[in-house]
Amino acid sequence: MQTRSAPLIRIGIGYDIHPLKRGRRCILGGVEIPSETGPDGHSDADVLCHAIADAVLGAAGLRDIGAYFPNTDPACKNMNSMDIVRRAVAEASARGYRIQNVDATVIAEQPKLSPHLDAIKASLSDALQIPEDCVGVKATTNERLDDLGAGLGIAVHAVCLVARA
Ligand code: MG
Repeated sequence: MQTRSAPLIRIGIGYDIHPLKRGRRCILGGVEIPSETGPDGHSDADVLCHAIADAVLGAAGLRDIGAYFPNTDPACKNMNSMDIVRRAVAEASARGYRIQNVDATVIAEQPKLSPHLDAIKASLSDALQIPEDCVGVKATTNERLDDLGAGLGIAVHAVCLVARA
């Protein structure tokens, strides 16, 4: 096994996708968005939180959120995914890494997210324990291409930079 001193700055990437289902609540970054459909999943299916948590864990060289929160675990049923983000931050912090900034892109045809981005950023800033101007959340569509473009799901790409405290 190779060993070397840990670098001061490290980056992590996260990705997640969930199908949209009629009648499900639509919670993104801990904020409930008015919508006739919401992401389906075992937890509250907050796809934005899941991608960000994986980016945080990846930056710290840790395993993915499935290792911490298996979707077969009844305790994770309907769980608040903000707790997943907080756990990821705590795991990174326990290894000496402080979150510097997070950036995410949400890909969805609907619901329209632009009116909610400020609230989502504030919510994530709280969970990540970083200033709001260190949280980027953008929304885009898939230009009607593929299943995302048909409005069948929501996908998120996220990156996270951490620095050794
Ligand atoms: Mg997920």
